[in-house]
Amino acid sequence: MYTPEGFTPSHARPEALADGALAFAFRDDKILVGDPEDAPVVPQLSKLQELGMGGDGHYLGDLAGVPCIAVPLPADAPEAPGWRYAGLRSLFFRLPEPLVAIAGRAFQVIEWDRTHRFCGRCGTPTRNRADERAKECPACGYVAYPRVTPAMMVLITRGHELLLARAQRFPPGMFSALAGFVEPGETIEDCIRREVREEVGLEVGGIRYFASQSWAFPDSLMIAYTAEYAGGEIRPDATEIAEARWFAWNEVPALPPSISISRRLIDATVARLASEARSG
Ligand SMILES: [Zn+2]
Repeated sequence: MYTPEGFTPSHARPEALADGALAFAFRDDKILVGDPEDAPVVPQLSKLQELGMGGDGHYLGDLAGVPCIAVPLPADAPEAPGWRYAGLRSLFFRLPEPLVAIAGRAFQVIEWDRTHRFCGRCGTPTRNRADERAKECPACGYVAYPRVTPAMMVLITRGHELLLARAQRFPPGMFSALAGFVEPGETIEDCIRREVREEVGLEVGGIRYFASQSWAFPDSLMIAYTAEYAGGEIRPDATEIAEARWFAWNEVPALPPSISISRRLIDATVARLASEARSG
């Protein structure tokens, strides 16, 4: 997930919304979409109102002239014929990619809206600020912004091999790169060295940025790197890692689906190792 081509983000809702505004409406963590199952549609805001749902929502921006609104629905929002509530992950490859990206953005704004209704410092009900996407406490002035949680992902190489691990929560047989959340006081590079040490007991160097991805499950910014093996023997941390080992570039096991940055990171690295192997 990323900022789609042609999307201009903004928190300030225009005085008059252009026709055809789209409503990214969530009931809990599921988004309202219309039939059919294999090619769902995002409802227009007018349709949502016709169905008797939705209030003001949060303005997200403009996708090539189409206003996009995030609409939190109550837990008891009705099921209307021809419409259903779908998990965000189920929309990958079914809904056009820019709309999936905006749905992810909508979900994060709605989650923040739902979890910051009261001031975290003094408990007073908060209100939305007009000049930015933020909630403010009228009693003590505390300001809360949408939460984005940075996490790193790292793929370690050693010669023509790469280190892949199977987390306890993965389906059997699936391996991926290492990942972990940044802790207070850390740089991302610090986080990489600490997580690699904790999860597999190795030392790494040559840390190099690859790419980043917004990941709305629920609010991660996944920042991906490659690194080079610098020492140690693999000692998997049994609570998080079921198995970790070196794989030759041409013997990689089952990998995560291509929607994830982990897959792009692994594919790009395998391609690099393959070309290095061919050129000797
Ligand atoms: Zn307060």
